[in-house]
Amino acid sequence: MEKFDTRAVRSGQVRTAEAEHNDAIFLTSSFVFESARQAAARFAHEEEGNVYSRFTNPTVRTFEERLAALEGARHCLGTSSGMSAVLATCLALLKSGDHIVAAHDLFGSTVSLFSNVLSKFGIETSFVSVTDREAWQQAMRPQTRMLFIESPTNPLGDIADIPWLAELAHANECLLVVDNCLCTPALQLPFEMGADVVIHSATKFIDGQGRCVGGAVLMQDQEIRDQVFAFLRTCGPTMSPFNAWVFLNGLETLSLRMHAHCKGALELARRLEKHPAIARVYYPGLESHPQHALAARQQKAFGAVVAFEVHGGRAEAWSVIDATRMLSITANLGDAKTTITHPASTTHSRITQEQRDLAGIRESLIRVAVGLEDIDDIECDLARGLDALTAVPPVRAVQCR
Ligand SMILES: *Cc1c(COP(=O)(O)O)cnc(C)c1O
Repeated sequence: MEKFDTRAVRSGQVRTAEAEHNDAIFLTSSFVFESARQAAARFAHEEEGNVYSRFTNPTVRTFEERLAALEGARHCLGTSSGMSAVLATCLALLKSGDHIVAAHDLFGSTVSLFSNVLSKFGIETSFVSVTDREAWQQAMRPQTRMLFIESPTNPLGDIADIPWLAELAHANECLLVVDNCLCTPALQLPFEMGADVVIHSATKFIDGQGRCVGGAVLMQDQEIRDQVFAFLRTCGPTMSPFNAWVFLNGLETLSLRMHAHCKGALELARRLEKHPAIARVYYPGLESHPQHALAARQQKAFGAVVAFEVHGGRAEAWSVIDATRMLSITANLGDAKTTITHPASTTHSRITQEQRDLAGIRESLIRVAVGLEDIDDIECDLARGLDALTAVPPVRAVQCR
């Protein structure tokens, strides 16, 4: 097989008779048959081919093949969002009475889906700390069918031991599902570590410029693929061809962008660690991070998300956010533009105080998703508020205006 960067640019493309260089967008809801006989054969699955874009679409197919080539997956199915990828995986593969064990610090809407939606249909979820092996073992029940994780977690960067969780899952006849949105296949390949299903929100780094919402489910097993496909085809949260085209172009630069995000994030984390206004920096690339060695084993680099606590509480954290002039105050991530957010009052505001305490989301915590601007300018923008919190500002290598 070709190398990663080649697959990112070349995999999956099918040129039409027009010999277009970039991928065509098949912006069509349905497809025309040569005859009534062919229509019947397509509907009966006796003949391969497109029928209707809720089922399959050539542009979406190209995206699916390219992402599958990058993740090392046999099958990939595009979805309308990251959340519909999670929903499709759960509803296609689970039934009433089944049980999920999930890390408690998952993406907020995933936690809501498990606690508020799947629970209505008789699928129960136990939440455990992603790094607590004993808690995972104790949460397993005879009805457990799925383990669900993200690694690193967002925003605190805890690392799941993926091979260990895969073993636990398989010893109990469960599937290990990994949401690989924060790493992307440019940094981490969960299938090589035993995952059964990999999920993406393509909205984030796969797009890379904050334009479209989409997602994907990746699998090795044909039967699992057929179940997820049947769910998507019947229920309809499939990917739009236009969005697939945007994501296809995003994949071409994924690896370049991810390594640039990571380089910036590591440098920022190191500089922030020295700032007297900051109590603690959370970034798996720092030697001070408790799972640094595990992160280095599982990932090619350490991700774009840096979180830090300032001395003080909400007022101090908000003052740092409000002092920025360049950074975007938004909860989105995976963009060329650096974003800054206060998790306790935004992304984690709808969970209870007890759940926030359990997840370690303090009022003094700020999350930065490092974009592609020059790191000196990102540091200086944060320094406006940070320096104001300390009597003596730190000595910096760069001059901030
Ligand atoms: C954003 C996100 C999702 C949900 O994706 P949408 O495209 O917004 O539906 C799921 N998991 C993680 C880790 C995310 O960051």
